[in-house]
Amino acid sequence: MSQGLVTASYVGATILFILALGGLSNQETARRGNIYGMLGMLIALIATIANVTDNMGFLILALLVGGYVGLSLARKVQMTEMPELVAILHSFVGLAAVLVGFANFMGPSTHFTGVELTIHDVETYLGILIGAITLSGSVIAFGKLSGKISGNAMLLPARHWLNLGLLILSIYLCNVFVDQSAAGGGTFPLLVMTLIALLFGVHMVMAIGGADMPVVVSMLNSYSGWAASATGFMLNNDLLIVTGALVGSSGAILSYIMCRAMNRSFISVIAGGFGTTTGGGASASAEEGDQGEVVALQAPEVANLLTEAKEVMIIPGYGMAVAQAQHIVCEITKSLRAKKVNVRFGIHPVAGRMPGHMNVLLAEAKVPYDIVFEMDEINEDFPKVDVTVVIGANDIVNPSALTDPNSPIAGMPVLECWKGDTTIVLKRGMATGYAGVQNPLFFKENTRMLFGDARASLDEVFKNI
Ligand code: NDP
Repeated sequence: MSQGLVTASYVGATILFILALGGLSNQETARRGNIYGMLGMLIALIATIANVTDNMGFLILALLVGGYVGLSLARKVQMTEMPELVAILHSFVGLAAVLVGFANFMGPSTHFTGVELTIHDVETYLGILIGAITLSGSVIAFGKLSGKISGNAMLLPARHWLNLGLLILSIYLCNVFVDQSAAGGGTFPLLVMTLIALLFGVHMVMAIGGADMPVVVSMLNSYSGWAASATGFMLNNDLLIVTGALVGSSGAILSYIMCRAMNRSFISVIAGGFGTTTGGGASASAEEGDQGEVVALQAPEVANLLTEAKEVMIIPGYGMAVAQAQHIVCEITKSLRAKKVNVRFGIHPVAGRMPGHMNVLLAEAKVPYDIVFEMDEINEDFPKVDVTVVIGANDIVNPSALTDPNSPIAGMPVLECWKGDTTIVLKRGMATGYAGVQNPLFFKENTRMLFGDARASLDEVFKNI
């Protein structure tokens, strides 16, 4: 393929990636956005492969292996496992950046001298540094999201000083690497820095407590973009630079949005320490009776409350994803709307286990977009709501975030459903949510519990409606 055609394909792919991001910002255009993204990636792949002259056999083998792994993962993965999958895919980007960095450094093709060599060395160093942090951080995030590693924050003594020390050491090693590389060496400082970056990634994510994980996931997403961008500089590949920058900056914007939603400062989340005050981890259970009595209802009573209401608000959470209850939720919504009940959905920005988790599920079940609202749009409306149905949500409706300054989720805005007439909470027992804290909502006078798997409970409610 001629260089001109390659450049034109790269420009076309870049435009498609930008259109993809634009499309993904809205539910109605998300499908189109995905198609743009796929098309862009196809063009990028064809143009890149057509440009390769050596080792075509290896390339085809790698494509087949990668394609097979991707396809089988995508076919197998459950919706509830998506966040873990995304985390582990970020780690692959980090790993690729590290491997490409070392291959690039050790390969015989380096023809730079003087300032050009210094710039190339710094690009290689940064690519490996960001890649290694992304790699180990994402593996730990995968462990935390899949429950293989405890969700609690691990706080080492003097951790801020430790981080600062590692940063200074990395800058010093960069200097040593550039000097030694000019003299034909440099492998040792590069290896030491890689080890430090891997440790830093582990330490950074281990120090993040339960409820702050969303910020880490989106931040690692951003890092994976910058790692790809740095690789693009190393390989002198414009498309990789631009694509990496798009992922890096959109991930950074998402991290900012998540921080705002959690009422956290970005720096304080990264420095770690939130989500640590109390709470016994994701599996701890709130002891019934600590805060009062809980009142349980049966499905027919819930159906009655719903059909007699004028204003119903549904708050979905992680448990709806676990129970795969979105389709029956949609059926109930349809029948209530047919009975002239105004049904709306309130979505917390960190509901579920990944940004937009609930929106994806509701869209899958074909719940109309115009009745799905962000937290900020409907939080004022709860005093006018007759019945709120909380489906497998916990942390995002926990009033102690607003009232208890010692709570690990203190300061996080929550959906203030207790201000409505009646709140019905669907969950299996009295277990805590992801942040591992008790929820006083369950013990409030106007709260009723419907115990059981959310899908089974809602099936019963639907029959009674
Ligand atoms: P939570 O994890 O706080 O609560 C989920 C609740 O669902 C649990 O208390 C559980 O109680 C219940 N549940 C689980 N399975 C079922 C089932 N089959 N049927 C009925 N109920 C069920 O979820 P939220 O959505 O309220 O909050 C999200 C939390 O996850 C926040 O702390 C957030 O910070 C964190 N997080 C979010 C990410 C994101 O990007 N959105 C990423 C990482 C973490 P029981 O076991 O008693 O049934």
